Amino acid sequence: MNTAKKRAEKLRELLARYDYEYYVLDAPSVPDAEYDRLFRELQELEQADPSLAVAGSPTQRVGGAVSGAFATVRHAVPMLSLNNAFDDDEVLAFDRRVRERLAEEGLPDAKLRYSAELKYDGVAVSLRYENGLLAQAATRGDGAAGEDITANIRTVRAIPLRLLGAAPPALEVRGEVLMYRRDFERLNERQRSAGDREFVNPRNAAAGSLRQLDPAVTASRPLRFFAYGVGEASGVDLPDAHSALLDWLARAGLPVGAERTVADGPQGLLAFYRRMQSLRPTLAYDIDGVVYKVDRRDWHDAIGFVARAPRFALAHKFPAEEALTELLDIEVQVGRTGKLTPVARLRPVFVGGVTVTNATLHNEDEIARKDLLIGDTVVVRRAGDVIPEVVRALPEHRGEPPRRRAFTMPRACPVCGSAVAREEGEADWRCVGGLYCAAQRKQALLHFAQRRAMDIEGLGEKLVDQLVDGGLVRTPADLYRLDVATLAGLERMGEKSAANLVAAIDASRRADFARFLFALGIRHVGEEVARVLAQRYRDPDALMHEDWSALAEAKAAVQKDNARRRARGEPLEPVPLEGIGPEIVASLQRFFAEPHNREVIAALRAAGIEFARESQRVGDALAGRTFVVTGTLPKMSREQAHELIRRHGGTVASSVSRKTDFVVAGEAAGSKLERARELGVTVIDEDALLKMTAG
Ligand code: NAD
Repeated sequence: MNTAKKRAEKLRELLARYDYEYYVLDAPSVPDAEYDRLFRELQELEQADPSLAVAGSPTQRVGGAVSGAFATVRHAVPMLSLNNAFDDDEVLAFDRRVRERLAEEGLPDAKLRYSAELKYDGVAVSLRYENGLLAQAATRGDGAAGEDITANIRTVRAIPLRLLGAAPPALEVRGEVLMYRRDFERLNERQRSAGDREFVNPRNAAAGSLRQLDPAVTASRPLRFFAYGVGEASGVDLPDAHSALLDWLARAGLPVGAERTVADGPQGLLAFYRRMQSLRPTLAYDIDGVVYKVDRRDWHDAIGFVARAPRFALAHKFPAEEALTELLDIEVQVGRTGKLTPVARLRPVFVGGVTVTNATLHNEDEIARKDLLIGDTVVVRRAGDVIPEVVRALPEHRGEPPRRRAFTMPRACPVCGSAVAREEGEADWRCVGGLYCAAQRKQALLHFAQRRAMDIEGLGEKLVDQLVDGGLVRTPADLYRLDVATLAGLERMGEKSAANLVAAIDASRRADFARFLFALGIRHVGEEVARVLAQRYRDPDALMHEDWSALAEAKAAVQKDNARRRARGEPLEPVPLEGIGPEIVASLQRFFAEPHNREVIAALRAAGIEFARESQRVGDALAGRTFVVTGTLPKMSREQAHELIRRHGGTVASSVSRKTDFVVAGEAAGSKLERARELGVTVIDEDALLKMTAG
């Protein structure tokens, strides 16, 4: 057997299977674009060798099937499919063919107009009204006969049971039943929580909902309808123009899409296409293209039909939003903050109007949930401007076993080799070597230099970029080796600003340990935690050598003792490292266990960093009291107020809760003040605070 014939047979077999999944099961396994690609290939083979175009070929008939579950309805006027165009040239060719046909029939093509409307991505139905009343409804089926779904259609509220202002003996309204995207998502949520099958997309959800044996189920599904044409019509004088027919249907009470136009040539059609393409993401429902129809309905028969579709109409499809490709590999990228993100490397595929080669997979759970193996055939989706996504794998397409392999998260950072950790309750792995890792360098330096940390004025983003990209600085310790000459050589850096920066770096050598700790960028160690730690430890060495399990025991013992004291009404003992929970401790341990971090800290010490203790306690007047400062105070900055509170043993919190003892409110204090009033927390002003600490 020759290869073309073999291939044609293979294609017919595949398309038949996909038709079955799509039309009968309402559960397609491949994206439409894949189906369309195979369909085109078969069409081309058959065109090249017409002997291949056998009667049962999918190219020769309308796709659906009539299941035995419903009574059969013969369509008085067949329900056809549409020919597709995927690019502008095909639209021009369509227009040429129409004009040729008109010429052959002796019709004046100067009067040719096209009506353009949306191509709703739903299910075709025919609604038969008799004497103005909905009498019967049917699916398209194989085009000649469909399924009787009258009982189900009656439950769709968008479909009138009686026409307005018209009661012809017979009128078949043709249109599309569909589901809004929001409704579809809600339905799938419901299906999920009931443990029922989820639908692949709104189209299949609409199809599945229509073909229910129990109309009560259909009634519970949020279906909509748009009319786009008529079939049999008797005893009614319908407009000659398709565009006017749509207006007529709208007046008769049928939902008709508002987005449509009339154009006198292909340029107008293409302009409509582009307008609708940009409108597409904003619509409440899916469309997969636009449809052009010769506006004069009385010319339709003259222009005629091909096997399965009219020649007077064309579906101009949008670029597919889903396509198949191969998952070549999964690489791990390290973000500025150390987060490890698995990224799919894909065989380049054109989808949603662009070529996609990569897609984020977010985290390892996502990969497991989607059951992705490297080497899999996957569905890639890119809708509108949304970033591309790997939707799912097609296990049945899994090729020869040797190419497939499972992904595992690396146990060391792929950029710097430091340890990685995934904390309890979190989905992401992170590189622990924050001070050293090249991926985190810029972030680490900016964090280190910021005002609330080492306060190195002038070390902003642009400069950090230059220093890192030029290889001058790799870790914060390298900052202390910079000299004026080197800095002055950089872009937008004069002698003077270089000298200022060197001075600022130098000044930071006399550091407050709390600020230094915060500057290291240890996960979960914010300013407040750093301050608590700095009260107990003098320097990094002391912290690094803490025996954390002994400390935990000691802490538990004090807490237990305090419980007893509380019961007896006795004063409580201070709890060591109060507020520093196991999560923070684990983070500290991980950070200091990483040799790379320790090296950088040693280098910082060697660069001459010394720890002064700015926020020495000067008294206990505020001990055991929690303060929140809000609004603008008359004399002090908020930071100064915090400092004052801490120096007198108080605790500063950032939000008001029942545990807050005082809210210090200045001018324009907003929600925190309100909250304080709600909770009955004492509100004081700056003066009162100063008095409390004066004695
Ligand atoms: P079609 O969907 O490309 O076009 C014809 C249909 O468009 C009509 O029957 C009608 O229901 C609908 N339509 C929407 N708006 C319209 C409007 N304004 N005017 C007129 N008609 C309008 O063709 P089809 O034969 O229904 O289906 C074939 C398509 O279905 C394929 O191109 C493929 O994308 C998809 N399909 C996918 C799979 C799969 O496995 N993924 C399988 C089978 C079919």
